[in-house]
Amino acid sequence: MATVEAPVRPRTSLHSGPFVTEAFYDFRIEENARKMRAAITKVRAQLGREYDLIIGGKRVKTTDKIKSLNPAKPSEIVGIHQKAGKEHVEPAMKAALEAFESWSRTTVEEHAGLLFRVGDLMRSRKMEYMAWLVFEVSKNWAEADADISETIDFCEFYAREALRLAKAQTPIQLPGEHDTLHYIPLGVGAVIPPWNFPCAIMAGMTLASIVSGNTVILKPSSDSPTIAAKFAELLEEAGMPEGVVNFCPGAGASFGDAVVAHPKTRYIAFTGSREVGLHINKVAATQGPGQIWIKRTILEMGGKDAIIVDADADIDSAVEGVAQAAFGFQGQKCSACSRAIVDERIYDKFLELLKARVEKIQVGDPAENANMGAVINEGSMKTILGYIEQGRKDGRVITGGERVEGEGYFIQPTVIADVAPKSKLEQEEIFGPVLAVIKARGFDHALEIANDTEFGLTGAVYTSSRDKIDRAVRDFQVGNLYINRKCTGAMVGAHPFGGFNMSGTDSKSGGPDYLYLFTQAKAVGEKIR
Ligand code: NAD
Repeated sequence: MATVEAPVRPRTSLHSGPFVTEAFYDFRIEENARKMRAAITKVRAQLGREYDLIIGGKRVKTTDKIKSLNPAKPSEIVGIHQKAGKEHVEPAMKAALEAFESWSRTTVEEHAGLLFRVGDLMRSRKMEYMAWLVFEVSKNWAEADADISETIDFCEFYAREALRLAKAQTPIQLPGEHDTLHYIPLGVGAVIPPWNFPCAIMAGMTLASIVSGNTVILKPSSDSPTIAAKFAELLEEAGMPEGVVNFCPGAGASFGDAVVAHPKTRYIAFTGSREVGLHINKVAATQGPGQIWIKRTILEMGGKDAIIVDADADIDSAVEGVAQAAFGFQGQKCSACSRAIVDERIYDKFLELLKARVEKIQVGDPAENANMGAVINEGSMKTILGYIEQGRKDGRVITGGERVEGEGYFIQPTVIADVAPKSKLEQEEIFGPVLAVIKARGFDHALEIANDTEFGLTGAVYTSSRDKIDRAVRDFQVGNLYINRKCTGAMVGAHPFGGFNMSGTDSKSGGPDYLYLFTQAKAVGEKIR
């Protein structure tokens, strides 16, 4: 008999033993689908609620509001949020600094214990959190599952990592000394996430911060503040002391900018676009009045990710991987495949198979679990449609190319063939369901095209040649490379995630180096008396 949950990997024990990633639901099992529909109904009844800023544990209201809308049905308000302005920076900083005094001195076991409890609580109501993502950012059920599962993985993984880091030792002991190494917290961090992994990235940067003993001003994206409010409530429920995370939705250009510039901000953990990341880097580099440190910036930015399909590849598996990586969550992943670079010997066959596969993708309401939901907002829809128009000049639209009629921001999955290297469509991040297909003369040419952008986030190669795999490992300049599989779907622990060049500061979330970015090492050499 089918079980209710079909784990991808069985979990042996919580919080101890080897780390195991969270199991995904199998929605072909009717019982799982029924439960998800029930979670959607439950969350639908809570849409439109108002949420407050949380500063030092106190609820704060503002005159200006942010309305979070359902992209699949923009007349539906998901949540109404207060809008922090410049006047809220000082109170939020004061609360975070005060909380830092005690939280930074709290034991690592307590820090880790908080994350374990958050993960346990989230696991116990997993489908409810998934349903919020369905409404707030138009994720289908599997995409929502991946986002919440990754959040739970971050709770488990970073808690274990903090416990591991607390046991760090100096490589050697000098004779006559007791030499120790302590990874201590940095101070108050500004956590500034995007909307596209509105739970996992928002929570991941926050959890890494607090498990390391820092305190946080959390400014979620204005497109996804509701899931962040739910996470802030969860932190409180799990017993987080007041002021450790100060929840402040607000405009990036005013509140966000002012928090970055504040002289008491010790570091900025940001994930988002290249433009905003570079701006934050510049603002953070300026020493403010009374500022006594160089602000650390952890900046994870955009991508123009490519999948290379070699002449000797398993073409069916390459078509499937490209289709999933290009159109999963409407192509709005930093890791999404936006360029398929295909050997000329199989190019026509690949296009024929890809067109047939993409035309099976059904666009519609993610509450009904359509394959592809709506893009995030009206502005984004217009930008994407603008790129499609550009694509008609830079190449040949072989499928899609239009907005889907109706209230929501739906766009057809679009494949543009014969795109030339260096064209606008081939170089710029579109962040929508648009795939450029580029013809390559051979593997070397394909690698050259793949590397010829300013980004370097993810990439994949489909080939049956060991030699070509080795060359890709050596020469494909991306932070996350995949062989004979799609370039999306990084798993915590197995695929530490983050890119090169204009894709970011080479930080690797979900990896063994990540917490070093949120700490500073203090080495103590004590003479033995
Ligand atoms: P965005 O840059 O528009 O916004 C990101 C965050 O920055 C938001 O919270 C926004 O309010 C804030 N912000 C805007 N201006 C600011 C300012 N002047 N000062 C401080 N904060 C400011 O990005 P987005 O549209 O939310 O997300 C999409 C982008 O994120 C894409 O480029 C995508 O590739 C990237 N991304 C990268 C990764 C990665 O791991 N490298 C992961 C997910 C998304």
